[in-house]
Amino acid sequence: MPEETFVIVGASLAGAKAAETLREEGFAGRIVLMGEEIERPYERPPLSKGFLLGQEAREKAHVHPADWYDKHDVELRLGMAAARIDRAAKQVWPAGGEPIGYDRLLLTTGASPRQLDVPGSKLEGIHYLRSMGDSAKLREAIAHGGRRVVVAGAGWIGLETAAAARTYRNDVTVIEPESAPLHRVLGPEVGEIFAGLHRKHGVDLRLDQGVAGFWGAGQVSAVVTSGGAEIPADVVIVGIGVRPNTALAEEAGLEVSNGIVVDEALRTSDPDIFAAGDVAAAYHPLLGRRIRVEHWANALDGGPAAARSMLGQEVSYDKIPYFFSDQYELGMEMAGAFSPGEYDEVVFRGDLDELEFIAFWLAGGKVVAGMNVNVWDVTDDIQALIRAGRPVDRDRLADAKIALTEV
Ligand code: NAP
Repeated sequence: MPEETFVIVGASLAGAKAAETLREEGFAGRIVLMGEEIERPYERPPLSKGFLLGQEAREKAHVHPADWYDKHDVELRLGMAAARIDRAAKQVWPAGGEPIGYDRLLLTTGASPRQLDVPGSKLEGIHYLRSMGDSAKLREAIAHGGRRVVVAGAGWIGLETAAAARTYRNDVTVIEPESAPLHRVLGPEVGEIFAGLHRKHGVDLRLDQGVAGFWGAGQVSAVVTSGGAEIPADVVIVGIGVRPNTALAEEAGLEVSNGIVVDEALRTSDPDIFAAGDVAAAYHPLLGRRIRVEHWANALDGGPAAARSMLGQEVSYDKIPYFFSDQYELGMEMAGAFSPGEYDEVVFRGDLDELEFIAFWLAGGKVVAGMNVNVWDVTDDIQALIRAGRPVDRDRLADAKIALTEV
């Protein structure tokens, strides 16, 4: 039988981990891992944390050492964007290159930052953060301190970069259209804790307003808010969410709906094409619905799951969404998922003033998500509570003297 070729489009964490799993599982065929960037695969959490803060070297972010790809016979094609998929011929066409035939194809094309489309949005000094190059450029802009930094969006990018900019001793203003930071992902109860944290660290947090435009001659000099305020700025950071990179899949006629639609085995509407990571809208067997998860752990676990599925193994990708964040003295992990307005109450256990607590989101008396803040080694217990899917006693849940395993 001729050697099979598995092509992975998207050389980031999910794609590189998928290639690793294919070899670990004994796949002896040809693996092509192609990516648009020229940097070899890396993970993104350090880009808004340790790398941005100058505490972590570039190498630490890379998924594999440079020689790993040759050693494992993985053809790493960097600086190569896929332009088209010909499903009938089972070929991927790189932009300006010769087609590459595939037996199985994995799409790990990720997501791209949403752009702020307002007057002045093309001025110099306005930063987006997605790639390692973006992070290096932003670090250069804020690392010397003493700049006026305005952050648009109090989401994860906005808050982590605001913390980094304050750590470098810049003046920082954050503008957010909702009434609390992270309103959509956490709701107001926990969003307010993040508001308090940033205010305590000297961030000027302007809620209930968006960005109406920018002033400047070549270089940005001020941000105009929807409320009409004019905020002087040397550096602007925009973190207003991302959009999944689905164009390739869409043009190939694959089913797309807020991401590439895949089943619990991460298989698309074409049985030889799979998708994982930020771009995949996957049916989650535990939640009983499709979700698209834009976090590190989903790339780390989803890539390998898709690889096993490509090999014909039975896969039911049912990981509970998980991520972490570090901002000043606050370190946290979060597990679970809910949409805005999908929970009834938040139950806290621990000390909110000391920032050592766990927050649980309850729906119908059941735990749907939990966030441990400066409390460690509990995420497995929190995930077990979510997985159990049974009503809990809220008083016992709030009582830090009762072990989570007893709740
Ligand atoms: P995000 O977490 O979705 O937050 C975007 C924020 O920007 C929201 O609060 C949003 O408010 C706000 N916004 C929208 N339009 C705005 C406007 N015109 N002016 C000002 N604010 C506006 O997205 P992100 O922070 O850009 O992060 C990008 C992706 O990276 C996300 O998927 C995120 O999960 C991921 N990430 C994760 C981590 C981590 O896990 N620790 C760290 C960094 C990034 P609305 O809710 O009202 O739209």
